Amino acid sequence: MKLLSAIIPCYNEEENVSYFYEEFIKNEDYFKKNELDFELWYIDDGSKDNTVPEVKKLTQKDKRVHLLSFSRNFGKEAALYAGLQKAAGDYIACMDADLQDPPGLLPEMFEALHQGYDMAATRRVTRKGEPLIRSFFARMFYKLMNRISEAEIVDGARDFRLMTRQVVDAILSMPEYNRFTKGIFGWVGFKTKWLEFENVERKKGETKWSFWKLFIYSLEGITSFSTAPLAFAAFMGVVFCLFSFGLIIFTIVRKALFGDPTSGWPSLVCIISLISGVQLFCLGIVGQYLAKTYMEVKKRPIYLVKEEI
Ligand code: UDP
Ligand code: MG
Repeated sequence: MKLLSAIIPCYNEEENVSYFYEEFIKNEDYFKKNELDFELWYIDDGSKDNTVPEVKKLTQKDKRVHLLSFSRNFGKEAALYAGLQKAAGDYIACMDADLQDPPGLLPEMFEALHQGYDMAATRRVTRKGEPLIRSFFARMFYKLMNRISEAEIVDGARDFRLMTRQVVDAILSMPEYNRFTKGIFGWVGFKTKWLEFENVERKKGETKWSFWKLFIYSLEGITSFSTAPLAFAAFMGVVFCLFSFGLIIFTIVRKALFGDPTSGWPSLVCIISLISGVQLFCLGIVGQYLAKTYMEVKKRPIYLVKEEI
């Protein structure tokens, strides 16, 4: 018998917990046929609703269900990391609690692993039911990310993956604090089979990702997997040095030819404010990396556990 571990990060998902379980065990026949045992790890990310009691009910009903509850909300990335650490399986799947990652795809994902792939990943080909502006920025982000980072990040990729033990061990060997999982999955490499599916809307409850949260998350992704913005800052420095060098020559020549030293203060004000803007912008970029480094060197735990069943 081989073991499949499924990791389900939950933040205020009281309505989805049992739905998910029911959907998941619909695969039981397939599991039996393929000599697979399974364990479910619900990772409660400091939910404020009845998620924990709901999961506890399931743990009493089915010994294969486990709960890991955080002391507060640490974010989905932390929950995934905790789940990967806990999972004992030969195969490990990460899935959302809201059924946007349909458990019905699991057999197809297993087929991919049997074909010799190390990882079966999913990407949604439509963004149906999502605000247009959000889809636009999401696409821009993926384009930019793939240009500037060495980790391959596929547009529309979800965190819904089935992995072999080897891949999970590789991911666990990256104990970084700023965890941008989409990047980490791409960075570790291995042979990945992409399965496409139409976007499914979440079963119950609301998304935890506001536009602003997604924006911050995208910055996290960029600073975690690329140093291109730093190079850009340096490049801007060189451009403005050349520009001001040209200006100096221009001013000297003009003075020599026309002897007009005092006029031109409006242009001076424009140049000063432009250059200070660019300076602050570049300083901000450097600051972002410094902040990430600061959080990283503190070596704080990625999550704190309150309860484990
Ligand atoms: N989630 C979490 N911690 C958070 C936010 C979300 O564990 O701080 C979980 C959430 O319960 C869900 C999954 O991450 O199972 C995806 O969240 P959501 O459905 O809100 O994101 P979306 O599908 O809209 O991208
Ligand atoms: Mg969702």
